[in-house]
Amino acid sequence: MSARLLDGKRIGAAIEAEVAEGVRDLELRLGVTPRLSVLLVGSFAPSQIYVRNKARTARRIGIRSEVISMPESARTDEVLSRLEALNADPDVDGILVQLPLPEGVNEPAVIERLDPAKDVDGLTPWNMGRLVLGTNRWAPCTPAGVMEILRRSDIPVEGRRVAIVGRSNIVGKPLALLMLRANATVTLCHTRTADLEAETRRADILVAAAGRAALLGARHIAPGATVIDVGINRVTSRAEAERIFGAGSEAAREVEGKGGVLVGDVHPLEGRERAGALTPVPGGVGPLTIAMLMRNTLEAARLRRTARPA
Ligand code: NAD
Repeated sequence: MSARLLDGKRIGAAIEAEVAEGVRDLELRLGVTPRLSVLLVGSFAPSQIYVRNKARTARRIGIRSEVISMPESARTDEVLSRLEALNADPDVDGILVQLPLPEGVNEPAVIERLDPAKDVDGLTPWNMGRLVLGTNRWAPCTPAGVMEILRRSDIPVEGRRVAIVGRSNIVGKPLALLMLRANATVTLCHTRTADLEAETRRADILVAAAGRAALLGARHIAPGATVIDVGINRVTSRAEAERIFGAGSEAAREVEGKGGVLVGDVHPLEGRERAGALTPVPGGVGPLTIAMLMRNTLEAARLRRTARPA
């Protein structure tokens, strides 16, 4: 069997087109263009790429965006005061604090200070609480993107067994809540899960969000299951690339040529062989995360600018 590939690029582009239309509508009705501020602290290379992609997409669909860069050495109070300025600026609709923050910055303190009305990744305690209660106005971008991939690929969630590997605040936990709301039966797995294989093999829908290259192989996947691979890992050793893709494979050669190759949390070859449907890495969940950020920014702008009660 060879899995049907769920094309995140195509689905993300469709959502972006809808958001672009919403942006034009807001401009026509209210004369305002949504504005997104991305706060980037430090020099973590993947974050630089993500932030650049987010700004580029925003521009393409007509959302004003800016990247505010702060040095790796920034102190928590300096980050907080930059954030306060964005909170107070009436022309800023959405604020994204790119995670992870450098070690020296108190991440929970920064997230707590974000204005919930501008928290377009839905990570503040207020928005997380609303997600638990089901009264949220939007949801964290990556989990929201996972739900959109399933919805737009006509893969039902209701009544299905869903296993999520990874319990981070940004992916696993909020995704478990969204799945529960969609009436799935949810198992949330993590590093202390006693028998990971047994848990994941029972799942109709398996979501991998552990941040470990090729962690999940054929033995973790029920034949024909839907597999959503959130992981983005850069493999830089030829030996590891060969272990995953095989000796002499194109991916192994890519490590030499380009210095690395992107691998999800699901073994790419075994996943394709075993799953019924699978998101590729890259080109699966990644584009959805950006598309949902755009949608959340538009929604935040709509709510703030029309002053509807939240
Ligand atoms: P994280 O490190 O904060 O959390 C990882 C979670 O996985 C933890 O809860 C941990 O308990 C669990 N885990 C780790 N190893 C495990 C193992 N061997 N067995 C079982 N559970 C294990 O990571 P995160 O921020 O949630 O990101 C996870 C992955 O998703 C990363 O590869 C990240 O790059 C990727 N990511 C992708 C997108 C996207 O847009 N596609 C967005 C966010 C994160």
